[in-house]
Amino acid sequence: MDYIQLFEWVRDHALTVASVLITLVLIYHYVIERDKAVKLSKKYRNSIFEAQSKIFLNASQYLIKGNKDLAIKELLNAVDLNRETIETYFALGGLFRVNGEIEKAISIHRSLIARDSISESTRLLALKELAQDFDKGGFIDKAIETYKDVLKINRDQQDVIMALCRIFEDIGDWDQAYSYRIMLSKVGQENQSETISHILVEKARSLFARGEYKACAEELEDAFRFSPSVSAKILRLRLYLVLGKMEDANALLLELLKEHPMYTTFIFVSLDEFNPKSADKEMYYERLDKLKTYFLGLNDIDLMTSPSVVLSKIRLLKDQHRTDAAFDLLDKWMKRHGQSEVLKVEFIKLLIEVGKVDEALSQTKGLLNNLHSSLTRHYCSQCGYNSDEIFWRCPQCHNWETIQFRWKV
Ligand SMILES: [Zn+2]
Repeated sequence: MDYIQLFEWVRDHALTVASVLITLVLIYHYVIERDKAVKLSKKYRNSIFEAQSKIFLNASQYLIKGNKDLAIKELLNAVDLNRETIETYFALGGLFRVNGEIEKAISIHRSLIARDSISESTRLLALKELAQDFDKGGFIDKAIETYKDVLKINRDQQDVIMALCRIFEDIGDWDQAYSYRIMLSKVGQENQSETISHILVEKARSLFARGEYKACAEELEDAFRFSPSVSAKILRLRLYLVLGKMEDANALLLELLKEHPMYTTFIFVSLDEFNPKSADKEMYYERLDKLKTYFLGLNDIDLMTSPSVVLSKIRLLKDQHRTDAAFDLLDKWMKRHGQSEVLKVEFIKLLIEVGKVDEALSQTKGLLNNLHSSLTRHYCSQCGYNSDEIFWRCPQCHNWETIQFRWKV
């Protein structure tokens, strides 16, 4: 039997395995205590063992009849008889949760919490386990409530605060997400400034979408105080456009491009979005056109070595139906700086558009021969998550600003 089969068997027979384990623990205690001079009389110890054996026997019968709930109830009764078995019940609860049997995990942890006889630290542990059961089972409200209950007893619980951060970021409750990040920054060692900045930008972004520009600007100021993140700068750029501050917009764009040339495509994709349904819309796009013209006119040598900058220029030129200019730019650039798959795809499209079909065919053949296994444009530097979409917060590992661009020049 290899490990995978063993694992599957254990998964399918979780309760049976746990019952056997519990019995072994009970027998173990019985055997080691039998020869020791313990306070309990021999008769009493024997009766404990008898009771435990009976409970296990009942539980086994329920199991055989397929009544898992009654089996668990019987097994849980044993907690009163031997406190050292509590650890075994934690193991059993954890096993159920991993196995996806959330309700059973919940009933074990709930009944542990309800015991009078356990210590406060055990109760805290059981409460934490219960919160994780709710979390895993998708009972978000109950998970939040229970995690909060844990923090009421002991605030110094980094993993619990982190879990709350993850939940509130998932559901986009940015006020709560902000509070718990602040709490995390006080408890933990890691600096949370960048993430806090991103969260404040998310708050500002929803204010922007509602057309509340003044409140949006204030929230953004706060974000900058924590960390001048890229997303904060892009939103500020959109704010400048909607408020008509063109000189500030040009300067900020240049600053952004010089700092993060690889974000260029991304910046323009973000700027193209304008969600507020307001009268500002037409004005916004007029000003954005001016900003794009300013960008196309930039001839900074450092900037022009970046494939992302060149690709953005090409896309903007194509939008303006200046296909020949786009083709010339890319043709010259690739001769000087080399190629990547993304650039080559763009080049082939341009070849077709300017009518150089034969060359397009031979370039396509070359591209297909060397096609990289993945052509997604972005990936996460932490977990390798692939995406064509832009993500500030990785949907897979939940880290902020781990996006990387696949330019292999
Ligand atoms: Zn990731």
